[in-house]
Amino acid sequence: MIENMNNIIDLRSDTVTKPSQDMRLAIQTADVGDDHSGEDPSVNRLESVAAEFTGKEAALYVPSGTMSNLVALLTHCQRGDEVITGSESHISNHEGMGAFVLGGFSVRTVTNDFRGRINPLDIREACRTEWPTTKVICLENTHNRCGGSAIPKSEIAEISALARERGIQLHIDGARIANAAVALETDVASLVDDADSVSFCFSKGLGAPVGSVLCGTQDFIKEARHNRRLVGGAMRQSGVIAEGAYYALTHNFDRLAEDHENAQLLRQRIEGLPGVTLDPAGCDTNLVFFELDSQFSGDVFRSRLSERGVRCSGTSKQRVRMVCHLDVSKTDIERAAKFIGQVLHEMEDESS
Ligand SMILES: *Cc1c(COP(=O)(O)O)cnc(C)c1O
Repeated sequence: MIENMNNIIDLRSDTVTKPSQDMRLAIQTADVGDDHSGEDPSVNRLESVAAEFTGKEAALYVPSGTMSNLVALLTHCQRGDEVITGSESHISNHEGMGAFVLGGFSVRTVTNDFRGRINPLDIREACRTEWPTTKVICLENTHNRCGGSAIPKSEIAEISALARERGIQLHIDGARIANAAVALETDVASLVDDADSVSFCFSKGLGAPVGSVLCGTQDFIKEARHNRRLVGGAMRQSGVIAEGAYYALTHNFDRLAEDHENAQLLRQRIEGLPGVTLDPAGCDTNLVFFELDSQFSGDVFRSRLSERGVRCSGTSKQRVRMVCHLDVSKTDIERAAKFIGQVLHEMEDESS
């Protein structure tokens, strides 16, 4: 029978994490000022550490990853210019096409394979030199919809060489770039070395309550600061949230390997259960995806799991997504795996 649950194991996303007591304490004592005038010491410190972390000259704290990508594109392009993104990218699937709606850019997509890779030849073919002119190529690392795959530097280098040759900017949507660096056993700065701009989220695996950062050259960030204001993202005593982001960056980076191990463990436990096909992309980082056989309803699976206190999300009717993060322990994963097995066996019995 269903066990009595008192704590929920929330695997819907790494955005569900809540600030720890220590992080709350840091937030409580944050020194603040009016960031609009560059006077918030906590924001200034965060931006300078983030710039160092990505090896870029400067950084800009923004409320969300979506705004960070939008501000990057508004800064790289003029109305009428073209942006190239992957077909499975967050930018072209989950950001309301802000580049198009708000920026007036045309967004051209090139195919992402199952690991989020893009064939450089496809990009070469997609680049246009006039009317519209391709101004920026966007890569995503880790690739969210493609299994959380970590894209190695060698693949980025090939595309950046092509971009450079044509005077096109390279932007990396690195919402989970910290996970990529940990998985690839490198540092973030060298991983994004070839990019002109990079965005990453404090509020995902790193566990901060709010915010993302956009990094690039001094000139680029100066311009981006205007564009952040344009889209309503300039804040005041934002040190209150920046301090949580600073705490996340300085305390929660090294532990990401633990989330990756938990995700591997979860994947191993799911392997061989009835009615599931694991994602061919494998499991480089903290995301676990699998496909349910067509006779198993994704909605029923999720709701039965939820009754047992395990929550997960779906990217389509049959595709299930489970995300490991700092509020999920190895014990939680073992428990979740047990319930996943129970539900799948139950559904198998009913379908036979
Ligand atoms: C989450 C995410 C974003 C957007 O971040 P928000 O803070 O939710 O707006 C952008 N890109 C990728 C790849 C993401 O996973």
